[in-house]
Amino acid sequence: MPAASILQTSLSGLARALVQQGRLSEYDVEAVLGEAAANSRSFVSQLIASKKLSALEVAEVAAQTFGFPLVDFDALDPEQLPKDILDKKLMQAHRVVALHKRGNRLHLAVTDPSNLQVLDDAQFQTGLVVDPVIVEDDKIGRYMESAAKSDTELKKLMEEDTTSIGDLLHNLGDDTSEEVESADDITAASDNELVKLVNKIIIDAYNQNASDIHIEPYPGKKKTRIRFRKDGSLVNYIELPAHYRSPLVTRLKIMCDLDISERRKPQDGKIKFKKFGPLDIELRVATCPTQGGVEDVVMRILAAGKPMKLEQLGLAPKNMENLKSCVEKPYGLFFVCGPTGSGKTTTLHSVLGYLNTPDTKIWTAEDPVEITQEGLRQVQMNPKAGLTFATAMRAFLRCDPDIIMVGEMRDKETTSIGVEASLTGHLVFATLHTNSAPESIVRLLDMGMDPFNFADALLGILAQRLAKRLCPKCKKPYVASQEEMRLMLDEYCEELRNTERFKREGEAAQHAIHEEWMQRFANDKGQFMLYEAVGCDNCDSTGYRGRVGLHELLVGTDPVKKHIQEHARVAEIVATALQQGMRTLKQDGMEKVLQGSTDMRQVRAVCIK
Ligand SMILES: [Zn+2]
Repeated sequence: MPAASILQTSLSGLARALVQQGRLSEYDVEAVLGEAAANSRSFVSQLIASKKLSALEVAEVAAQTFGFPLVDFDALDPEQLPKDILDKKLMQAHRVVALHKRGNRLHLAVTDPSNLQVLDDAQFQTGLVVDPVIVEDDKIGRYMESAAKSDTELKKLMEEDTTSIGDLLHNLGDDTSEEVESADDITAASDNELVKLVNKIIIDAYNQNASDIHIEPYPGKKKTRIRFRKDGSLVNYIELPAHYRSPLVTRLKIMCDLDISERRKPQDGKIKFKKFGPLDIELRVATCPTQGGVEDVVMRILAAGKPMKLEQLGLAPKNMENLKSCVEKPYGLFFVCGPTGSGKTTTLHSVLGYLNTPDTKIWTAEDPVEITQEGLRQVQMNPKAGLTFATAMRAFLRCDPDIIMVGEMRDKETTSIGVEASLTGHLVFATLHTNSAPESIVRLLDMGMDPFNFADALLGILAQRLAKRLCPKCKKPYVASQEEMRLMLDEYCEELRNTERFKREGEAAQHAIHEEWMQRFANDKGQFMLYEAVGCDNCDSTGYRGRVGLHELLVGTDPVKKHIQEHARVAEIVATALQQGMRTLKQDGMEKVLQGSTDMRQVRAVCIK
């Protein structure tokens, strides 16, 4: 019969096995295949729907015939399944779910392991070797439905975003006439609205890329002001009627398990927002009693971040080259310094990401762990439990490290352990709360470091700032006047006054830099294009969007090490480093102005000494 030969050649292995085992007739298979094609379903799903066989029967045949394990999908914890590994279309169309990833292998739940196209697609999408695991079609189908449902629910919740905070407030009743002092006075109905309001504030802050939320109540009938910190500056978000201030603060305290009756002392806690809203973020919360018997709340958004690639940090080519050669050394000390919010941790994580290979053991001590990277062993500090930077570092030294990263070196103890670790063959990274690279050296020596050990260990120090980036959509180009360029050149060269070369050559040295600028930044008419901030929808009418990193990399060269051993003054260290090619933060910033990334006002604002 011709049908039999068609069956032999064009049917999937599973259909063939079902026929050969006498579970289905060839006629059944053909009918099911026809319906499956008409309904754009998989063969197995259509077979179960036709009720010719149960999902369990099909799964058992698949497992026995092809020798793959059969797993009860209902017994798995959906929360533990790796998300976003596979394309949703592939998952839905063929009912496949990623179960577990280990190394370069992926366990994939499938209903038909003989559908090689699906296995190929999964392998192609993930770049992993796929190990099929058989599951029952009805169980995986129910999971898919509920996942799709929670997807749409999440979307709906995020879309609720389109109801503005103003509408929400309107629902709450913008009534300033009466003063409600206690949270008990808020009725259950408005309670629900209040929960929505708090969620809305947090979701808005997150969506607007804010780093912090400031809640600032005033006594009496004055409104409570809420501001967001975005790209380093505070911007007004909304003002709430006075009678919300207590319920609002109470709600926030409840969310992070703080004592709601304690209103006279500062408290701190953490909100795991996943418990309350549709976002998987954490917020570090601090309360502080303020004048008039009210309480302020400030929240830092700790978005579960991923590391940036080293190339995305915006390092000038020379700095990038020097940075790589510093951190590729097998041992030594490397610091990143700058004030709070200058992106030190982001940079360190990018460096660790660059060094994170299977043959390297990396331990990190952080407070808080904001960026996570697979492959790193990251430890959250917990001073209350006795886990401090110093104890963590000592523990790491017993745990066979290659690289150790310490959130902050702020005392003699952590610094000594760091120096010791680097001299015994480890690469040690840390951040410092200092302004400039040369100043860091003096600060560390003041802490009581042995100058000889420290000089031996030092690989380099990177100082960093974040300047506001001109909004690419609205920035307005103009040709810089000769006067403007002359002033810029003077300002740039002022940084070099104390170098041997400038003392020796003066004007000639300055002229050489102008020539270099002409080559690197001027257009073919010999003009320099600079940009003005304007303001548009893309940038909240500020003219700026996002930030650009400014860097000053001091390399631990022999002359620098000699200065350290001799306890030299900052000015001497700076002069030597500049002589060897270091650019100061301001100079790096000015080059980024000439490239059109930012403007002088922003560079000066972050480079104040
Ligand atoms: Zn703009």
